[in-house]
Amino acid sequence: MQIIRDIAMLRRAVSALQQGGKSVALVPTMGALHAGHLSLVHMGRRVADHVVVSIFVNPTQFGPNEDYAAYPRDEARDAALLAQEGVALLWAPDVATMYPSGHSTHIEVAELGADYCGAARPGHFDGVATIVSKLFNQVGPDIALFGEKDWQQLAIIRRMARDLDFALDILGAPIARDADGLALSSRNAYLSKEQRKAAVVFPNALKAAAKAIAGGADVVQTIARAEADIVEGGFDSVDYVALADPVSLERLHVFKSSARLLAAARIGKTRLIDNMAVG
Ligand code: AMP
Repeated sequence: MQIIRDIAMLRRAVSALQQGGKSVALVPTMGALHAGHLSLVHMGRRVADHVVVSIFVNPTQFGPNEDYAAYPRDEARDAALLAQEGVALLWAPDVATMYPSGHSTHIEVAELGADYCGAARPGHFDGVATIVSKLFNQVGPDIALFGEKDWQQLAIIRRMARDLDFALDILGAPIARDADGLALSSRNAYLSKEQRKAAVVFPNALKAAAKAIAGGADVVQTIARAEADIVEGGFDSVDYVALADPVSLERLHVFKSSARLLAAARIGKTRLIDNMAVG
């Protein structure tokens, strides 16, 4: 596996991979890889001839009081995992390569970025949309893969790719979960043993709410019950639990098929997100 940190070298390497009409799938990540990331790599290997993974902890998607400095980083371990998985190329630029002095352009997907995690983390999705559009332009993949774990992010990237006419396919991969149901996340590493044990209440409450709503229960009351269960189960606060249209992300107060339950909650200093299909 090649590890590349320079944009000109990256372009040459990707062109070489695409020679003879071969396809390239890009899996953008912030590293600290777990089985959720690797499921994207596996999907990439199924749908394309070559997989390129990027690792970049993007400063512009972290708020001033968030965990940018503390975010787990272990490139050597990540690179070894990716090499084992048959990844062709690891794109691992530094901050100065991504944001040269005077960098002043950003992408805002206004309609989809304001609510949910966008409300709790102002500027977060502008940082995500900007870095993902840069990655698309740098790598030039045929396909890009993202996890459904970050449902709002996936919706925003799909909309951005459509609005800006990016010539690639965006694919979403199902959420990889631990045996007890907690969605895998690099941030799970922050949890103490007790917090990790308690955290199972989060997917459990969402699962129960999704089932109740699909069965005809009142949406507002069911969401309030889920929020209370999450706090009673050991979380410090709930940012939101919401029923949403899966594409427009519009809030729904009445169930319709293919709706998605979206949620974020805080346990200690750790903020976890999750989502589930309803019905
Ligand atoms: P991150 O490194 O957290 O920015 O995530 C990189 C990619 O992996 C994103 O597309 C995420 O949605 C995806 N991802 C993270 N956790 C999971 C998971 N548990 N299951 C599926 N995809 C995931």
